[in-house]
Order: sequence, then structure tokens, then C-alpha cells
Amino acid sequence: MSRVKKNNLIWLTVFSWLLVLWANASNSTEKYSNNIKPLFMALDNSLPNYVGYDCWHGYEDILDNLRDAQNGVPPEKDKVKIAECLMNSAKTEYPPLIFATSVFSDESINAVTRGIEIVSSRLGNYGPYHVYLVGNNEEKGFVVDVEEIAKIYCNSADKYTEEPFENCFENAMNDFPNFGCCGAAHNPSHGIGQNIRYQSAVFSEDNRSTKEGRSIITSAHEYIHVYQNGFFLWGNDIAAEQAGLTEEYSHGPVWLEEGFAEGLAQKFTYQDGYNNHYKDFLNEALDAAIKVNRIHKFTLRDIATRQDQANVRSICEECQGWLQYETAAIALAVLESQIGNENFIDSFKSYYGNVPIVGWESAFEVSFGMSMNEFYEMIDIFMEKPKKEQRKIIHKLL
Ligand SMILES: [Zn+2]
Repeated sequence: MSRVKKNNLIWLTVFSWLLVLWANASNSTEKYSNNIKPLFMALDNSLPNYVGYDCWHGYEDILDNLRDAQNGVPPEKDKVKIAECLMNSAKTEYPPLIFATSVFSDESINAVTRGIEIVSSRLGNYGPYHVYLVGNNEEKGFVVDVEEIAKIYCNSADKYTEEPFENCFENAMNDFPNFGCCGAAHNPSHGIGQNIRYQSAVFSEDNRSTKEGRSIITSAHEYIHVYQNGFFLWGNDIAAEQAGLTEEYSHGPVWLEEGFAEGLAQKFTYQDGYNNHYKDFLNEALDAAIKVNRIHKFTLRDIATRQDQANVRSICEECQGWLQYETAAIALAVLESQIGNENFIDSFKSYYGNVPIVGWESAFEVSFGMSMNEFYEMIDIFMEKPKKEQRKIIHKLL
């Protein structure tokens, strides 16, 4: 009797473990099931005929004028209405498409897929978005199928943007075989004049990046840029850019755009269990931020514009990266540790939603409850603290 009971108990235990395992397994696959799943595509696949979202109806003259003037400013009449329509038009129901040369393993393609899902499950599906996994020439045999991937890349540019195939193809055939290891570049959509808000990214990573756990973070990083670019609506303010200013209706200082992309890509992948190096990332970013601040005396104020990037680079080559990625990520981590994770994500979304309407400076103040100057001063104070105390503050994110 007791023996039977014991057996039953063992079976019951085994059975409940199986149930737990099954529940976990289905949780991990169903975690992103409400999202639009990215699709892996063959390089000779035909391209979809995307149907965009028309915000021009009734506003043809206003939008025509804005596009031609290229002032990078919103219209005076019906600003909010048009902005809301354009912001909506950056969202899509079409799945992101992933194209890769034959050198990429399934594991790499899955990592890129998962990176997109991790972000889109939190921020929504933006695009249409295409990813091109090109690889790099770091080792012999890494660059294959160049012509095939350049063709589909440029056929897409030709079909969905104003760039003609020939121009794109000539550049791609020059650039793709010469990619060094490792990273990605993102091509944004243009807000005005495009019904289809097509965006794309080109990856120069390889299968080793996936093994190191990097590809999933790079993919998440690029997809955060896709989200950010959904809110870039009015084109470039060329005059402001040439004058070395931060354009009023742009994403704001360059460090802010990159700091969000890298900081949130690291955090989101960590939260979903795909990033064991988040703590190391924060510690190493802090070390770089300290170095660039104490040795080179740079602060985030020095890397607000494209011209600043060039200036910083001419003084210290590595400082550009240490400022716009590491220091920016640490500064935003300080902000997050102060306002809490949930508030931080809400404020991040509120910031981008407000940029096209009130400009980045007011959007920052409205969303984070402090002016950009107050933020800079807060980071100055943080940078003065002993390292032990600094670590304690940023480790609140773990
Ligand atoms: Zn970036």
C-alpha cells in the first residue's frame, strides 16, 4: 500500500514537473506570440507590395510645401492632427523581413529575429522594416552572395524609397565586400511625402557575434532606432544642421538617440533572459564614462550635434564612442535609477510622441520632469561621486 502510494507520489511529482516544464516552454514560445513575427526570406524572393497609410488627404498643399521647403518644422495649421497621422503611419502590420547571405547560421538569424521581437513586444511594430545580414571581410570566406544581397537591398530601396536601383547598387557593391567587423547601420524613413515608411538596417556582424551574445543586442538596438525614426516627421532643418545646432524637431542631441538605443537594447534583452552581461556592460560603460570625463574632460554637452562628433573625434578618436554610447547609457541609467524603470519607459515613449509637436527640448522637460540643463548638471554631480557610490546607483537597474 505504502509502496503504491510512494509510486503514485513519484508519478505525481514527475507529472507536475512535466506540467511546469511544459508551461515554461509554452510561455517562452508564447511570450512574443501577440506580436508580428519577423520572417526569414530567400534572397531571390519577390518583394511585397506594401500599402501605406495616406496622411495627405486634405493636406496636399501643406505637406507639399513642407517637403519642398525642407525646413524641418511642422505646419502651423493642423499641426497636431497631421503629426498624429504621420506618427501612426510609421506603425505597420507587415512583418519585418530578414535577408541573409548563406554564411549566416540559423542561430544568427534566430538571434536577429528575437532581438526584433524583444523590442516590438514593448514598443510596437514599426516599418515596414527589412534587415540585411551582409557579414564582413574579417576572415576569408565571410563575404559571400554579395551581388544577390545587394540586388534585393537595392530593389527594396528602388521600390519603397526615392533612391534609384543603379545608384544604390553601385554603392552597395563597393561597400558590402569591404565591411569590417562588426556592427550595423540603419537607414531611416522620411516622414513627409512617404506613404510607405520603409526602414532598413544592414548588419556587418557574423556568426561569431551571435556566439558572443552580441547579435541579439545589436538587432534590438537597431529596432529601437526604427521606433525612434517613426517620430521623425518633418525632414531635416538643413540650416540649423549647418550652423552646428541641434535641430528643434529632431531626436535631440545625438548622444540621447544612441544612449536610449544601446541602454534599452541591453536592458530589454537582460529582462527577457538573453543578456548575461548586463552588469558587466554597466560597469564597463561606467569605466569608459569616467575615463572620458576625467582624462579628456568631455561631457555629454560636447556631443550634441554631428559637428560635435567630428570635433571630438579629431581630439580623441575613441572619445566619440565613449561619449555617445557608454557615457550616454550611464547618464540615462542614472536618470532611470532616480525615476524607476516603469516611469522611465513611459517617459521615453512620451518623449518621442512629443518631439514632432513641441520639439525635443520641451519634449524632454515635459516627459522627464527636468530641463536638459538640469539633466546635464545632475550627471556632472554623479561624475564627481566616488566610484563605489556610482556603481550603487547604476546597479539599481539590475
Ligand atoms: Zn545606434
